[in-house]
Amino acid sequence: MGITRQQLIEGDLLRTQIHVGGQWRDGSGGQRRPVTDPATGEEIVSVAVATADDVRDAIDAASVAFASWSKVPAPQRSKILRRWYDLVVEHTDELAEILTWEQGKPLAEARAEILYGAGFIEWFAEEAKRLYGEVIPTNNPNRRMLTTRNPVGVTAAITPWNFPAAMILRKASPALAAGCTMIIKPASETPLSAFALVALAEKAGVPAGVLSVVNGSGSEIGGVLTADDRVRTISFTGSTEVGRTLMAQSAGTLKHLALELGGNAPLIVFDDADIETAVKGAMDSKFRNAGQTCVCANRILVQDGIHDEFVAAFSKAVAKLRVGDGRDPEVTQGPLISQGALEKVQSHIADAVGKGATVLNGGEVTELGGTFFSPTLLVGATREMVIATEETFGPVAPVFRFSTEEEAIELANATEFGLAGYFFSRDIGRITRVAEALEVGVVGVNTGLISYEGAPFGGVKQSGIGREGSLHGIDEYTEMKYICIEGVA
Ligand code: NAP
Repeated sequence: MGITRQQLIEGDLLRTQIHVGGQWRDGSGGQRRPVTDPATGEEIVSVAVATADDVRDAIDAASVAFASWSKVPAPQRSKILRRWYDLVVEHTDELAEILTWEQGKPLAEARAEILYGAGFIEWFAEEAKRLYGEVIPTNNPNRRMLTTRNPVGVTAAITPWNFPAAMILRKASPALAAGCTMIIKPASETPLSAFALVALAEKAGVPAGVLSVVNGSGSEIGGVLTADDRVRTISFTGSTEVGRTLMAQSAGTLKHLALELGGNAPLIVFDDADIETAVKGAMDSKFRNAGQTCVCANRILVQDGIHDEFVAAFSKAVAKLRVGDGRDPEVTQGPLISQGALEKVQSHIADAVGKGATVLNGGEVTELGGTFFSPTLLVGATREMVIATEETFGPVAPVFRFSTEEEAIELANATEFGLAGYFFSRDIGRITRVAEALEVGVVGVNTGLISYEGAPFGGVKQSGIGREGSLHGIDEYTEMKYICIEGVA
């Protein structure tokens, strides 16, 4: 187990070029940009940058490839996807090492992400064979009526840096399973995982033009993708602000949009919760990926009767986290992705403290410097603080105190976001009431870990549109066609 960076450099997966129409090549403008290790600030490699012309080439190639890929019988497409799954699993160590290198998360989390992402390939390899249509009971003996589900055509994925592998696989797997072709635009911070996954797809037998990857400016590439009528679905994971831009830009060509956007997850601990379970859930949900996930608990709401006991146990658990280079097996939290991310975390803490919160753990950059930030616990948080309404996207757990169930629900829903929500209780009546009342797409009851490829993931309100994973995750890549046949009798 394990692989050295030297082995990666000598191997076949650390690619630095874009992949367009089955060719690995430099961008037509000849530009390159560095990818840096957030743990050291050092350059890993420099990678090719795609121009608008390269993106148009990728769309051309995807359009040509669609004609044949969409006609490949489903069991055959399924087998190719299954080979991709096998290769991704086989190369888990290399892929995890690349992921940690460019993104910073601990290797154990990187491995878990690769296997989680691979799960989508396996899942949709199976779903490819189950894209059933319907036969509708006829209203006329002379007619037969049926529906079929057909691939939409060329699609695009625009993905963020926090899950550089899983967010791509969650989109590319259903797209290819449905018979669509796809152009991936990874985050500029983390293109290496995308290149490596596409290299394995190529090895698995995904035909030229079916899966391309273009690295470069989000706004420039997004502009080309949204303006082109041939691109029928754009699946985006990232900030709500960019999601709104993409929606506005797609109006002219009326695309399908799948938008997985920002969150501001509440995590509620009721008086009747099991403390140990609640602390574990809060740790899992808050500090995974250094708090840089869209489903991270952003606000911890704790009821009066359990508040002090919970805070004491939570503080003890937070103190056990170990910050450092993700390659160290003892490390549970890597660096933040960038200086900008660090400044956002610091500003949220400063605002909260300025408005009366107390720092119980952390609150500052560790002795390692850079963007290594100490896991932070704040108590005395109130709704006037910025942290109550904005996603911190960092390792800061603000605890808000409440008295009644109604107050908790009102506070939990007092946000424009609605992605995930968690709560801890052992009362079946309360579990049912609160699960129904939370305005979110995903509810975790007595757990902080909810992701699974077989379950639908997505938000309500301004956290997005559409669902990924599960049998529903292929919907954005298919159109239903109704066929009415007359002249039967
Ligand atoms: P971001 O700034 O929105 O970037 C995400 C992607 O969009 C990147 O590939 C970026 O490219 C690209 N992009 C930027 N501006 C664009 C534009 N005008 N048109 C088209 N593409 C554009 O988000 P982030 O800071 O990387 O990621 C953090 C956010 O993602 C958080 O809000 C988090 O909650 C959300 N997120 C949501 C989910 C979910 O499933 N709901 C999952 C993970 C993360 P460049 O890198 O080149 O700028």
